[in-house]
Amino acid sequence: MNIEENTFLTVYIFVVAAIFGAVFGSFINCMAWRIAHDESVLKGRSHCALCGHPLGAADLVPVFSYLFLRGRCRYCKKKISPRYVAVELVMAIVFILTAWRFGLSLQTLWICGLACMLMALSLVDLETYTIPDRFIIAGILWYFGVLLFTDDWKAELLSGLAGGLSIGVGMLLLSILFDKVTGKESLGGGDIKLFFMTGLYLGPWVGLFNLILSCIIGIGFVLCMGQKRIPFGPAISLAVLISALVGNDVVNWYLGLFV
Ligand SMILES: [Zn+2]
Repeated sequence: MNIEENTFLTVYIFVVAAIFGAVFGSFINCMAWRIAHDESVLKGRSHCALCGHPLGAADLVPVFSYLFLRGRCRYCKKKISPRYVAVELVMAIVFILTAWRFGLSLQTLWICGLACMLMALSLVDLETYTIPDRFIIAGILWYFGVLLFTDDWKAELLSGLAGGLSIGVGMLLLSILFDKVTGKESLGGGDIKLFFMTGLYLGPWVGLFNLILSCIIGIGFVLCMGQKRIPFGPAISLAVLISALVGNDVVNWYLGLFV
């Protein structure tokens, strides 16, 4: 369905997308924090990361509770990291962009779910330098879950497996070769699994574009942060989202150069 035909409907869908994005962002913040700090994801109520006070319903309203309380905890009055509200806003924007690009479609469902996984694993990777397998597994399950509802699931599956295997196995071989040459570990195992999982969604051509973009963004992160050891999960995740939104256009433009 083309949502640009009706302005009212378009605005309505964007507002709903923004609310969903912010709510999922809030949930991801909580989940990623718990995983990074070895707390149970399901048990226990949400609490202030600084004073441990349990949060009430009003504290859990994304973006607005932060603005209303001027970025401080209601109970201990300490400053809350702007990271939390930033994640909520970014997720709202990602959901709007996806709805704008793909309308009400399975593609939108696929990418919004993938975006949640990517944001969560990026937050955990930033704190712990590891990408937990549960995010990779969740990403694979979400891919196959939505695949069941597509019209031409065989063609989708073929493209997805070609993307996942070519990019995932390609990166695995490249990193083994690179490690042998340089004598140290270049890419973590989590990064390679992440390339496989996201390759399912992107297919082989956009997957290849994603690979190149991940390297460029990764190098950009290294140059900007100036650290020796940087987590690659966030760089790959950013590249995957850009690839999912505009990768097809870039690939078509590039292939068009040779016709
Ligand atoms: Zn507090």
